[in-house]
Amino acid sequence: MAPTYIDEIKKLKEEIDCLQQRIQYLQGKINRIQLQCKHIFLETTGMRTCQKCGFTESTYY
Ligand SMILES: [Zn+2]
Repeated sequence: MAPTYIDEIKKLKEEIDCLQQRIQYLQGKINRIQLQCKHIFLETTGMRTCQKCGFTESTYY
């Protein structure tokens, strides 16, 4: 019988789905923290980074 990878791929894809949900959840947590933060920005060329929470934004307008 020829080996198939379908089951393995299916399992891996399920794992990816789980991880993507986890990423979304964690990203949401980061967003909430950064929303609450009273940013203290350190300016560098083209962008500034908050020293407290790591939030970055472009200073190109
Ligand atoms: Zn901040």
